[in-house]
Amino acid sequence: MQLNTLGNTGLEVSRLGLGGIPFQYISQTETNDIIQAAHDGGVNMIYTSRMYRDSEHKIGLAARRFRDQVVLGTSTHKRKKNEALGDIRKSLEQFNTDVIDVYSLHNVLTLSVLREIMSPGGAYHALDEMRSAGYIRHVGISAHQVETVMTALDQAAFDVVEFPLNIVDREAAEGLMETLRARGVGFVSIKPMIFGYAADSSLALRYVFNQGPDSTIVGTYNLEELQQNLAAEADGSGVSEEERLAAIAESEKRCFKVFCRRCETCVTCPQGIDIRQMLRWYEFFDRYHSWDWARERYRGVRPSLEACDNCGVCERECPYHLPIKREFARARIDLLPRNSLRRIYQKKLLGG
Ligand code: SF4
Ligand code: SF4
Repeated sequence: MQLNTLGNTGLEVSRLGLGGIPFQYISQTETNDIIQAAHDGGVNMIYTSRMYRDSEHKIGLAARRFRDQVVLGTSTHKRKKNEALGDIRKSLEQFNTDVIDVYSLHNVLTLSVLREIMSPGGAYHALDEMRSAGYIRHVGISAHQVETVMTALDQAAFDVVEFPLNIVDREAAEGLMETLRARGVGFVSIKPMIFGYAADSSLALRYVFNQGPDSTIVGTYNLEELQQNLAAEADGSGVSEEERLAAIAESEKRCFKVFCRRCETCVTCPQGIDIRQMLRWYEFFDRYHSWDWARERYRGVRPSLEACDNCGVCERECPYHLPIKREFARARIDLLPRNSLRRIYQKKLLGG
């Protein structure tokens, strides 16, 4: 198992990590088996969230015999300082540990959420205080937008960033990781399996490993999946661009969602619509549920999707035959603000 140094934290972390989502759905015995086998295979990074119900408790029990050999991470989705302090205390109790290695602010979607967290009564100050008091070793932030990460780093001392990286979402590999490395911030990649849509999990993982994150967190439901992931880590071979594109096409068949490859072929919309940008925002809306973030971006953009007259030029140009018109028909409703206008529009367009 390859170990990497997590930014300036001094922690040595396995490049394959375990994510906490599955542990809330499986038994304590199954959790014990997975965590023990992962430990035997060299995995030392386990990351969860307060949101994932009893996952902290199960992880704490499963890893108690080798707690000092595990890097334990968790996160809070609370935005206010007092609430986040309560979450940290609960996490310490649930893990049954005196100190948590990395504690993060979970899923900071927009700049307005970041502002709330960083305000005087905001959640960041709970983490910072508990770090100073020795209950947390390092503070992290999980986000889906580079802009949010960079603004957060300019405002506060974050030690670790968690951000999506997979065969489709490559922003982290296109500059963010390098910037974090230069600033001594650890990088933990998330969503390597594109929310479970990845058709070839081994290829998906090898792709991520080859981009060089310090660790990548993988939700693992059983021992068979764990063995596959360990094998992908041991293999570690690269993924060609042809293989990546083929893997996206296969994944797309599984989930019926649109994966724009940003190939830049569809630049000639007669109405001037920025198709790639619109698809990107809508992908974040649809796949990562970054609803407010996507709506914020869409607001005020001209030409908006209202200008689309269904001419079909983009679909004829797209080498991947993406159903752009269908996506835009959905996006022009979903990306409107959450108000009556949206409901009226939905009624008008869909007769619903
Ligand atoms: S279908 Fe809509 S988005 Fe596509 S080229 Fe025509 S106007 Fe532009
Ligand atoms: S041509 Fe298709 S895949 Fe390429 S950027 Fe446009 S929509 Fe995306």
